[in-house]
Amino acid sequence: MDLIIGAGITGLSYAAYSNNDYMIIEKEHEIGGYCRTIHQDGFVWDYSGHFFHFQDEKIKQDVMSHMDPSQILSVTKKTQIKYRDLMIDYPFQKNIHQLHKEEFIDCLYDLFQNPYHDYSSFKEMLYAKFGKSIAEKFLIPYNEKLYACDLNSLDVDAMGRFFPFANKDDIILNFKFAKEQSYNAHFLYPRGGAIEYVKSVCGKVKKDRIFLNEELLDIDVYNKIAYTNKRRIKYDNIISTIPFPYLLKQTHIDYDKSLYTSNQVLVFNIGFNKKGLERVNNWIYFPEKKYLFYRIGFYDNIFQSDKLSVYVEIGYRENDIIDPDKALQDTLIGMKKAGIISDHEIESMCTLVMNPAYVHVTKNMEIDKLAKMKLLNGLDIYSIGRYGSWIYCSIEDNIKEAKTLAHQLESR
Ligand SMILES: Cc1cc2nc3c(=O)[nH]c(=O)nc-3n(C[C@H](O)[C@H](O)[C@H](O)COP(=O)(O)OP(=O)(O)OC[C@H]3O[C@@H](n4cnc5c(N)ncnc54)[C@H](O)[C@@H]3O)c2cc1C
Repeated sequence: MDLIIGAGITGLSYAAYSNNDYMIIEKEHEIGGYCRTIHQDGFVWDYSGHFFHFQDEKIKQDVMSHMDPSQILSVTKKTQIKYRDLMIDYPFQKNIHQLHKEEFIDCLYDLFQNPYHDYSSFKEMLYAKFGKSIAEKFLIPYNEKLYACDLNSLDVDAMGRFFPFANKDDIILNFKFAKEQSYNAHFLYPRGGAIEYVKSVCGKVKKDRIFLNEELLDIDVYNKIAYTNKRRIKYDNIISTIPFPYLLKQTHIDYDKSLYTSNQVLVFNIGFNKKGLERVNNWIYFPEKKYLFYRIGFYDNIFQSDKLSVYVEIGYRENDIIDPDKALQDTLIGMKKAGIISDHEIESMCTLVMNPAYVHVTKNMEIDKLAKMKLLNGLDIYSIGRYGSWIYCSIEDNIKEAKTLAHQLESR
């Protein structure tokens, strides 16, 4: 029997693709993990914006097989950066021509007369690929706010394919012919929120094999017994989607905690009494320190609804003690300063903390992780998903990984 830990999109996808006997335990009272949705006072909010973008048509069909197409909105992404007094199209590095002339010249000059060539960290890579001005005006301050860490500690490929690379030709061409090439240029969004995808995947999962409010506490790897807050479970394989360092703890494998770090993200979902002043963007990036938040997303611009409905994301170090009241106060001041609200009143809100949110990908962590994964696989324990694999990835990646493992374990 395959014991699946966690009923987020990864755990449910594994079950949906598997022909093995399985059971899923989930510590929360509902399924969905970070792809859950909150319906409150007429507003629809995810755990911060959660948009599914598919590159694989088959995965898309599988995921959407139990959904009503008339309830899915197709959105062409529009995102900008609030930079000083300007709104610059995203990504910054391809739209430097939208800056004031002097700053544009600085960016262009530094791009071509760039003394930085060698790099071995994420921060050094930003200088080497884009020059001092682009790095220091947007890429470094924005990512420092998001990751809440020294970018020199991160691996060059910390963001993998999600980093919007652009070479000099791309940048110059974009001055004249704007081209959106990002991985999520178009996205689909269900009227009921991200949870609709999860429910659709769950349509292929045996409901009597999902056990909610059941938390994995300990694993006896040699006798293949998992201990939960409710019972002991004998298993053949474990498919874990819980954060990798927690799994190491529960399997009593010694590990260096300092290698496995991440940030936490405080999310304010806020519904206001009337439409806001920002009518076009799906989300806006805020690199400047004067704003506490690094990104604000606009649900009302997706739903075309008549009341401002936002998610606000604020990055913290993983052990920071968050003061949500102070953060909300600063957020509302920042939103006024940025021209997003004026005399708007809050009608409804929901505060969430995502911890972990973005893992810190470093070379030493990767080496250690691979060795520990090999050890675990030898014990029939497989750790998958965004936090199970301890990586930066999308929901589609999670589903693909779950599908591959389900087929692999089935054929044994
Ligand atoms: C701020 C933010 C925005 C994002 N936006 C997007 C986006 O727009 N598009 C996109 O593709 N991806 C996005 N992502 C990534 C996306 O959230 C993840 O890839 C995906 O939700 C991971 O799913 P999962 O099932 O692997 O993990 P999770 O959703 O974390 O599920 C793990 C499950 O395990 C359960 N669990 C944990 N411990 C135990 C235990 N001991 N016992 C039993 N159960 C346990 C948890 O309760 C949870 O339900 C975003 C991530 C963040 C942080």
